[in-house]
Amino acid sequence: MLQHIGTAYFEGKFVPLADAKVSVMTHAFNYGTGIFEGIRGYYNREEQEVYLFRLAEHYQRLLQNSRLLKIEMPYTVEHLCNLTTELVRLNNFDTDIYVRPLAYKNVCQIGTKLSPGADFTIFAVPMGDYVDTFRALNVGVSSWRRIEDNAIPARGKITGAYVNSALAATEARDNGFDEAIVLSEDGQISEGSAMNFFLIRNGRLVTTPIYANILEGITRHTVTELAKHELGIETEFRPIDRSELYVADEAFFCGTGAQIAPIGSIDRRPLGDGGVGPISAKLQHLYNDVVRGKLRRYSHWLTPCFERHVQAAAR
Ligand code: PMP
Repeated sequence: MLQHIGTAYFEGKFVPLADAKVSVMTHAFNYGTGIFEGIRGYYNREEQEVYLFRLAEHYQRLLQNSRLLKIEMPYTVEHLCNLTTELVRLNNFDTDIYVRPLAYKNVCQIGTKLSPGADFTIFAVPMGDYVDTFRALNVGVSSWRRIEDNAIPARGKITGAYVNSALAATEARDNGFDEAIVLSEDGQISEGSAMNFFLIRNGRLVTTPIYANILEGITRHTVTELAKHELGIETEFRPIDRSELYVADEAFFCGTGAQIAPIGSIDRRPLGDGGVGPISAKLQHLYNDVVRGKLRRYSHWLTPCFERHVQAAAR
């Protein structure tokens, strides 16, 4: 359980996290009408710096998705980025963190209609691994199907849609797996419970296309860029059959929370020797270096929050 300590951005100002509370009548609480983001901040101890990873891209996605629920967001990406770095400074974090922005329908009404009225909040908490990234995961195909675009769009990162993720993630763990792979109604692979999916066959990366009821992941994009520019590996975006899972050479999940999480077996069938595959391992190392600011050519993906070295240089 997380402690309610620290500072949050709530109803237009920075307040103690313990005071950032909504009414039980709030539309979003009753009907799941919120759009959220998950952003990681990585602590670089030598530089005493927290680097937020692809901050602007997360807010671009939040602003786009808020249109799905007719949530008014009178903010620019730049303003949202500034609020977030300010929040990190106010909390004075010296650990890896997870930042949760949330735009939500704040009207207090009975009835599901999307009436005008929305608010925006951000909180941040210390966070290490979401799934174990030091070993290969044992995963299973879920009996739950992914929500379809014409039911609740997965690309929307809509709070209510995460009931689907919760059901799949819980079933997987109850069945002794680390995570779930979720199929769409057509029987083809969609993604993990809250992470995108890649497999590797014959030295090529394959991931499901944006019409496979996935969240259009920022880490997914990062992986394709790193694979192309650092390893010379192209990615195929195409439907994946269930049986292709069992004949893949390697597979991994990726996401802000999951980071790069190699998969060792699917439905109790080992991939390769059941450990972390060689290409997955390379991508994992690259990703870890990029997010911590150790590969300077990707520093445009990082937003420093404290800029202590800049301040020191100016003195
Ligand atoms: N799919 C789902 C359903 C997610 O919730 C997430 C985010 N945690 C992802 C994929 C990965 O997206 P991103 O890389 O942008 O975090």
